[in-house]
Amino acid sequence: MVLATINPATGVREDEFEAHDAAEIERRVEQAAQAHLELRVTGFEDRARWTRRAAELLEGDAEDTARMITVEMGKPIAQSRAEVYKCAKTLRFYADHAAEFLADEHLANPSAVNASQAFARYHPIGVVLAVMPWNYPLWQVVRFAAPGLMAGNACLLKHASNVPRSAIYLDTLFERAGFPAGALNTLLIGARDVEAVIADRRVAAVTLTGSEPAGRSVAAAAGRSIKKTVLELGGSDPFIVMPSADLEAAAETAVRARVANNGQSCIAGKRFIVHTDVHDDFLRLFVKHMADLTVGDPLDEATDVGPLATRGGRDELAELVDDAVAKGATVLVGGFTPDRPGWFYQPTVVTGLTSEMRLVGEEAFGPVASVYRAQDRQDAVRIANQTTFGLSSAVWSNDRDEQDWFVSALDAGAVFLNGMTVSYPELPFGGIKDSGFGRELAAVGIREFCNLKTVWRA
Ligand code: NAP
Repeated sequence: MVLATINPATGVREDEFEAHDAAEIERRVEQAAQAHLELRVTGFEDRARWTRRAAELLEGDAEDTARMITVEMGKPIAQSRAEVYKCAKTLRFYADHAAEFLADEHLANPSAVNASQAFARYHPIGVVLAVMPWNYPLWQVVRFAAPGLMAGNACLLKHASNVPRSAIYLDTLFERAGFPAGALNTLLIGARDVEAVIADRRVAAVTLTGSEPAGRSVAAAAGRSIKKTVLELGGSDPFIVMPSADLEAAAETAVRARVANNGQSCIAGKRFIVHTDVHDDFLRLFVKHMADLTVGDPLDEATDVGPLATRGGRDELAELVDDAVAKGATVLVGGFTPDRPGWFYQPTVVTGLTSEMRLVGEEAFGPVASVYRAQDRQDAVRIANQTTFGLSSAVWSNDRDEQDWFVSALDAGAVFLNGMTVSYPELPFGGIKDSGFGRELAAVGIREFCNLKTVWRA
């Protein structure tokens, strides 16, 4: 099997890598297991020094790495650069805070459990397999690896098959920074080889960021092996606009929320639910800004929206729109594949959606926005909560009571008020329902893959 880098802006095959054979997989799993044994006896200070060094190396490589990301999966170059710096920031965040997040938790009155002292201590869980997607080829991995390595875990990375250059870059980064060889170890394997790695007794747990079908399959395999799992899956996030909102700011932000990363973000605003009193005004502004976007070569600094990462992804997106149109939806802008090489799709706004259209229930992973009219806030929440997903959400309202009401009523892992969903190392990140379970980032993210060991002293 061959893993290839194919430039989505041109369709040209830039690079090919042989997948690892059974002997190489075995060598790497064993190397990760040994790296964990070395890491677990190091202290936070050593790990923090290496993690800060990894941040410096990333920043030093920023221009080449940003170009690598753009050529491999097509996001505009400025966004690739931002991804690299966000990774460096997150590495430093965990270097600074891991010891505090994993400090012993002492029972205030140990006599209640007949002890002189009782506490819970966070130990690393071991080797964690990370199955990762291509959409943020560095960030998705670092979001998991920064806390994981700082906790003392080793990481086996099975990256998406279309980003092998990114996978190989990450394979050496942490060793260059001082971590034991193989502390983050890339397996160049396809999806069908994942189950055997999960079953390996040297692998303690698995984290997956990706689609719902991949999540079901990986969680089932982990369940069979009784291994801890974190799943960060798809989303179809609502972006709600109420009458008290600043409409111009909401419309501008709505466009960014929909098209960042060429529309291929799990936390993108995908369904725009607008109160009937401001629906037409918001829609006019939103359509205008979507129509003004510059679609083109992602290496060009002036480009807002580049190609979709794969031909299959582009075709699926086009099918969702075509299905809606065939069933009576209206396309206000876009709705077509531009006539040029590469896997582009024009930024699109669709209205008049009804429940039999696939666009209502499925995730649109590309620059396609669905707009719904809501009669009141109950109706807005009904539309927002009608999907099987529950990743994040955004609400635009300047009424504080109304904001609080939405925070309680929305079925989602996060609510962003008068803004768009963004992941920050300081904030917990994750979803409910078919968007997965478990949390990444913040203190909770580093604790997910620890063995919380209870210590009782007579
Ligand atoms: P994907 O097809 O699920 O792939 C993600 C990873 O899972 C890849 O490494 C893939 O390997 C692997 N994989 C796929 N099927 C598998 C299986 N049956 N068993 C084991 N591994 C399997 O997803 P994608 O198309 O790359 O990414 C898009 C999806 O990810 C969207 O739904 C998006 O919303 C979601 N996502 C979620 C988050 C979040 O934080 N919640 C963040 C980003 C993306 P191959 O490449 O070899 O197939």
